[in-house]
Amino acid sequence: MLIENKSIAIVGGGPGGLILARLLQLKGANVKVYERDFDKDARLVGSPLDMHEESGLAALRKANLIDEFKKNFRPGADKMVIANEHAEILYSDHATKPDEDFGNEYFRPEIDRVPLRNMLLESLQPGTVVWKSHFVSMKAQNEGWLLNFKNASSAYADIVIGADGANSKIRPYITNIKAFYSGITMLEGNVHDAKSSVPNIHALAETFPPLWPGMIHLLAPNRLR
Ligand SMILES: Cc1cc2nc3c(=O)[nH]c(=O)nc-3n(C[C@H](O)[C@H](O)[C@H](O)COP(=O)(O)OP(=O)(O)OC[C@H]3O[C@@H](n4cnc5c(N)ncnc54)[C@H](O)[C@@H]3O)c2cc1C
Repeated sequence: MLIENKSIAIVGGGPGGLILARLLQLKGANVKVYERDFDKDARLVGSPLDMHEESGLAALRKANLIDEFKKNFRPGADKMVIANEHAEILYSDHATKPDEDFGNEYFRPEIDRVPLRNMLLESLQPGTVVWKSHFVSMKAQNEGWLLNFKNASSAYADIVIGADGANSKIRPYITNIKAFYSGITMLEGNVHDAKSSVPNIHALAETFPPLWPGMIHLLAPNRLR
């Protein structure tokens, strides 16, 4: 087996890195995840993820984590509502989209990133994630690689896997191809004290319980009242 008696370093503890670590540990691999965050509570990690049958859900099934996912996902949050600046509903999936469930190829259950990250972390052997490890460079050593981190620490691994996101610092070791701007920009934010600052939108969010004001994508934030 390629990974037998090998130490594996995964750089990046996002959903990709953590689920890969879990799958490798199920195969008995010796794996560490090096993550730049200070600890698991260092930040709120972005908007919810929708999981697809053939990718995210398939990986969770392989990792024996689908039951954990079912305890943590946000039922109903896969349905979209489009409203104008007066919170009048222009379109609602709730009116038209049939209820789907696990096993249906069109089901796209949503999960917040914090519970997803927590359930993946809890599935790993203790000490798998090495926090405060901001990868900066690596050089060949023996049969493997010596990884250097911003805090001046270093670690050896036979195999290195880059899971450090769109601006990967591992990618240049593999290819000259650089990430490029796709032409789409998405802004995300939270509304402070939504109940009084955007009462109509707040009421709308309460009408559809899986939603909450922070999850609403604001298309015209200055006009929402
Ligand atoms: C606004 C938005 C909405 C999205 N919605 C969806 C959705 O609904 N469904 C979906 O499937 N996808 C969605 N995506 C895409 C999704 O976020 C990514 O596919 C997913 O996060 C990729 O996971 P990843 O683990 O590969 O990388 P990331 O989530 O980017 O994780 C990378 C990890 O590496 C760490 N890291 C980075 N650099 C270093 C370094 N030098 N050293 C150590 N650690 C490092 C970071 O701290 C982070 O924890 C969305 C993306 C955005 C921006």
